[in-house]
Amino acid sequence: MAADEKDRLGNKLHDVEKAREDQWARQRDIELIEKLRTRLSQTTCRDCKQFLVPKTEHGVLMYACPDGHGAWLDASALKVALKEHK
Ligand SMILES: [Zn+2]
Repeated sequence: MAADEKDRLGNKLHDVEKAREDQWARQRDIELIEKLRTRLSQTTCRDCKQFLVPKTEHGVLMYACPDGHGAWLDASALKVALKEHK
């Protein structure tokens, strides 16, 4: 096998590996979001004890009390919200 052919094969293998890692990371993200969603759908408002409902405000996903007592955001959503606010 010629040297450049070997390089190409190496690159190809690297691409395949990279694609597999990306897929794994995507799958893991989906599972984490799903877990968070499940956990939050069982979270209740501290004031009225109603279940929080998912709500998107300015593109930021949050879980809010249906009566408006408050909302819960995860840290990354809060960062996005604060950045938008500036
Ligand atoms: Zn409430």
